[in-house]
Amino acid sequence: MSTEQYRSDNAGALRIADVGRIVQLAGWIDRRRDHGGVVFVDLRDASGLIQVVFNPDSYPNDEQTISELRLEYCITVTGTIRERPEGTRNPNVITGEIEVVAESLMILGSSAPLPFQLNDRSDTEEIRRLEHRYLDLRTERMQRNLQARALTARAMRHTLEGMGFLEVETPTLISSTPEGARDMLVPSRLRPGTFYALPQSPQLFKQLLMIGGVERYYQIARCYRDEDFRSDRQLEFTQLDIEGAFWTQNDVLEAVEKIITAVVRDVRGIELTTPFPRISYADALERYGSDKPDARFGMEIRDLSQLFAGTDFRAFAGVLSAGGAVRGINAGAMNLRRSALDALIDRAHELGAKGLVWVVVQDDGSLRSPVTKHLSEEEQTAMVSALEANPNDLLLIVAGPQKLVESVLGQLRLDLGIPKGHQELSFLFVVDFPVFETTDEGDLVPAHHPFTAPVDIEELRSHPETALSRSYDLVLNGSELGSGSVRIHDPEIQAEIFEILGIAPEEAYTRFGWFLEALKYGTPPHAGIAIGMDRLISILQEEPNIREVIPFPKTQSGADPLTGSPARVADLQLKELGIELDPEVRKAWEDEPS
Ligand code: ASP
Repeated sequence: MSTEQYRSDNAGALRIADVGRIVQLAGWIDRRRDHGGVVFVDLRDASGLIQVVFNPDSYPNDEQTISELRLEYCITVTGTIRERPEGTRNPNVITGEIEVVAESLMILGSSAPLPFQLNDRSDTEEIRRLEHRYLDLRTERMQRNLQARALTARAMRHTLEGMGFLEVETPTLISSTPEGARDMLVPSRLRPGTFYALPQSPQLFKQLLMIGGVERYYQIARCYRDEDFRSDRQLEFTQLDIEGAFWTQNDVLEAVEKIITAVVRDVRGIELTTPFPRISYADALERYGSDKPDARFGMEIRDLSQLFAGTDFRAFAGVLSAGGAVRGINAGAMNLRRSALDALIDRAHELGAKGLVWVVVQDDGSLRSPVTKHLSEEEQTAMVSALEANPNDLLLIVAGPQKLVESVLGQLRLDLGIPKGHQELSFLFVVDFPVFETTDEGDLVPAHHPFTAPVDIEELRSHPETALSRSYDLVLNGSELGSGSVRIHDPEIQAEIFEILGIAPEEAYTRFGWFLEALKYGTPPHAGIAIGMDRLISILQEEPNIREVIPFPKTQSGADPLTGSPARVADLQLKELGIELDPEVRKAWEDEPS
């Protein structure tokens, strides 16, 4: 066989109509079965796989070569397509009606014994798969995820191009852009002692583009945030970043609906209904106990404080007189045993509640609960009607400070009701975020980056703790997919906002003086959003974490087991950068095997 050509066809594209053709295929050995002299090989390429038969009568290669074939060998084969004999067809494979009768074979690349079974992940640790990510990428699951990723980007580009957006790149060696995380820093060799920051987002550059007359900008941008890891976080991640001049909040949300609808159509074949629901931040907390509600299921939180206003039940009365709240959810007919109900009480304690009252509605409508005797007939009836309860329903009630009640019930709601997988897709926008969030310690911290416009600057000046901002989040099945806002376009208001958010004028001048200067030159009103691509794709692919849809992800501890990053560097490199290691760090370096 000559190597002037490796293949004539893609394996996965062959069909019954190709019977009789002589084809040349190239790919990897996915399976190999030896049936006493006749060897069957599943040959896999990027398009799919097909069965190849090495029959001693028809192939001239020496038996030696055939016996050498092992899993994941890279080969090229020439042969004739024939219909599989009746009874040997495989309806589970698209090429299952046919097979290739091999006439010649060449091994293009042999494979060392595999470090793990490619198609059986059950006992392979993730770190092992990441060490050999190139092998993991050969699996059908990873190939599908890569395809979904490319389809997502393509649908986004296509939709945005159709809407007149211009794709513009922005730099990755910049000065800090605050998005609330720690910066990743890059030391400068040309000016030792100074550092670039990698962008937490292209925020300030996209705003400069609006000042620069680019009215519709987009970019599929890599962003870097030095954050502690969770299953849906990575040090570097990808956002679809968009911004529009002369845009209002509604323009942004409508554009997002168009983009997401196109992506979901292409990746999942589902036609979404628009507009997506819009729910205010305050309502989201009140109804779902979360600012990223999972609206695939009900179990909404109901306020029962009024109903228990005159109660004799001491636990509720005490909380209400201290200004707290009594709220509950109807978890539906759960038929839980006593031990499971006790476990719910433990869970509520773990989440910070003083207690949890459970109530089961019995067949005759009466209530079974450890506290029934403390509740009047009217309270019981009113509670059943407020929670729209039917026989067998389990009602869960929590009393305490309002924020705590919301978060405990919000979590119990998820614990009990969250659907498995992501068959159904529930997109929504959370709007009307406050400018500040209150921490558990009672401190005010900015809810968004400092370029977000307040709804009313006067209100912000007089009541910063309750003032609202023009910002919004996109949420899918209880995950925050993206965040955006209408921006401040007046330099004086921007300077004032820095101050209100706690950035001292000197610091604002040093860090953002150049930006305040830029805002002075006829800045158009503008607004935008950034959508996290990794999270979106992982949910659409029903993957449990974003690492599954990132071609070369890092582990939970920020390491790449394949290339060994982050890694030590030579002393000379440090010297050129004017960096000296802390003696303790150096000692740890030297003690550790490199
Ligand atoms: N920079 C984004 C925005 O458009 C927000 C983000 O990156 O999270 O507001």
